[in-house]
Amino acid sequence: MRPPEHRAELVTEARLGPRDRRPLILTLDTQGQPHRWVTWQHAIFYYSKNLVAWDAGELCFTFHGGISGRTGRRSIITANSIIAIKGRAQSSRSLLQTPPLTNRELFHRDRQTCAYCGAELATTRLTRDHVIPVSRGGLDTWMNVVTACRNCNQRKGGQTPEQARMMLLFAPYVPNKAEYLILSNRNILADQMDFLKHHLPAQSRCLFA
Ligand SMILES: [Zn+2]
Repeated sequence: MRPPEHRAELVTEARLGPRDRRPLILTLDTQGQPHRWVTWQHAIFYYSKNLVAWDAGELCFTFHGGISGRTGRRSIITANSIIAIKGRAQSSRSLLQTPPLTNRELFHRDRQTCAYCGAELATTRLTRDHVIPVSRGGLDTWMNVVTACRNCNQRKGGQTPEQARMMLLFAPYVPNKAEYLILSNRNILADQMDFLKHHLPAQSRCLFA
């Protein structure tokens, strides 16, 4: 559904800082569902191919393009912080795909907290624990992994939580698309975060104040 018309604040290229540290643009499908992050170059490609259906962000970035041989003037392209992409640029299948499981996103999902002792630790002191150990047929999937400190992981060893008498403090779950997008980008703009927060699953531990 198309959101109501809104006014976006204009941010010039000069205010954006170095090219490699510019914010990513959040893309949506034409149903308004969050899809993926793209670089501003990619966003400009969507604009230039007329693939942007509408925009929904509160910020607009202006970029200077090449100089036109015909007019001698430099082109300027404006890109919004949240854009919906038309047609085949989005595959509906990808919206249903399970996000890839990486330690970084797993530790984020569990808020850097050991699922057995509750210790909140730095990434370097955390491990991926398979609730049902791989040696007992457990899978390496979101539903069978939790964050654990090294001590707890070692103590549990190749046992199930019941065998090790170590109860889980929280249950594993599969992050949805919006949560995964939040977990996978460290540099999210306020309007993008507001948008994604409305698409979080009820059990999400992504509690952003
Ligand atoms: Zn622990």
